[in-house]
Amino acid sequence: MQITKNAVAAIEYELTDDAGEVIDSSKGSAPLSYLHGTGNLIPGLEAELEGKASGDAFKVRIAPEDAYGERHDEMIQDVPRTQFPDGAPLEPGMQFQAEGPGGAHIVTVVGVEGDNVKLDGNHPLAGVPLNFDVKVVEVREATSEELEHGHVHGAGGHEH
Ligand code: ZN
Repeated sequence: MQITKNAVAAIEYELTDDAGEVIDSSKGSAPLSYLHGTGNLIPGLEAELEGKASGDAFKVRIAPEDAYGERHDEMIQDVPRTQFPDGAPLEPGMQFQAEGPGGAHIVTVVGVEGDNVKLDGNHPLAGVPLNFDVKVVEVREATSEELEHGHVHGAGGHEH
């Protein structure tokens, strides 16, 4: 069968930046299983996978607007150190989840200056074109329970 809305697809993939550095890869672990058409993958990759079948392979370069969005300088903010737990280690490069109006997102510490912590609320891959090398290894119908939960169960998916 082909990948359409509410199909479950398993893919092997390698993600590199324009310099050829590997950002992420399914190598060495199980293929990534996802529920198609529900926004579980970045929009540009879901669009490429639409209509593909088991055994299909492709390479695609996805622009930031179809991936994690452009970078926004206004999302870099200074926050008083007092807003963090006493003694919390804060070093450039540290990442943590923050709750915002749009849901949870990743925040990166870019610097600590005196009593101020500079935080970058941009997604780490914002502004980065993504090069995917993808192979579809399985396509199946989603179970009714998976559709209800909005994610895949079993190997490569949620275990619960
Ligand atoms: Zn579930």
